[in-house]
Amino acid sequence: MVPGVRLVVLGKQGAGKGTQCVRLSRHYVVPHISTGDMLRSATRSGTDFGRLVAEYMHLGELVPDDVMIKVVEHRLDQHDTKNRGFILDGFPRTVFQAEALENLLNPGGLDLVLDLEVPTEVVLERLASRRVCSVCGTIFGIDNPARRGAICDHCGGELAQRDDDTEDSIRRRLELYASSTEPLISWYLERRKLAAVEGLGPAERVTSRLIRAIDNRRQRPPEYPD
Ligand code: ADP
Repeated sequence: MVPGVRLVVLGKQGAGKGTQCVRLSRHYVVPHISTGDMLRSATRSGTDFGRLVAEYMHLGELVPDDVMIKVVEHRLDQHDTKNRGFILDGFPRTVFQAEALENLLNPGGLDLVLDLEVPTEVVLERLASRRVCSVCGTIFGIDNPARRGAICDHCGGELAQRDDDTEDSIRRRLELYASSTEPLISWYLERRKLAAVEGLGPAERVTSRLIRAIDNRRQRPPEYPD
């Protein structure tokens, strides 16, 4: 079995983070931690916490940093992440969250931060056509349409548009990505943790590029001088 890994995947909405993180999590046998998925499942739980986060998510606003940091701290404290590592998808999204993550992981830190690069015109097209299986969570879209209309190819579940994939919410989330999350690219670059990977093309090709970037880094840890 390949050794575990501690990764963050950055990328605009619709860049393919969810799809790629699932594939990477199978390859490295580590949990895929999607803060968006965790929050969506909280909104379905009917708790006060679920109601609170639903308001932010529906508008496309960020959930406050202190709330998100507690959620992630709790998840990173579980056995699977402690033993094998993790792939974080959707966290950190602000420099404040990135600083908190450094403190949570101290000592050790991340192996690598991947920036999945896709032009805005392409993500807009992908988001408009994105449909998610309500049962198994498989994501379909313009590049991988479902074979049977609104039915999942894998489990036969019903496909639906995400509640927050409305035009207004998409515009707001992309604005927030540019203002709050994109600064993390230079933040991690300065710390020599970043690898940019082209996110266009068939999903399996993108996965191979990501695995190459990760394995390169693991063979040549950043502490060593170039
Ligand atoms: P997207 O990247 O398409 O916005 P996600 O599934 O990653 O989708 O997140 C959905 C929503 O969950 C975000 O719009 C935001 O409201 C909330 N969210 C997820 N992760 C975070 C985070 N790290 N900080 C703040 N809010 C978050």
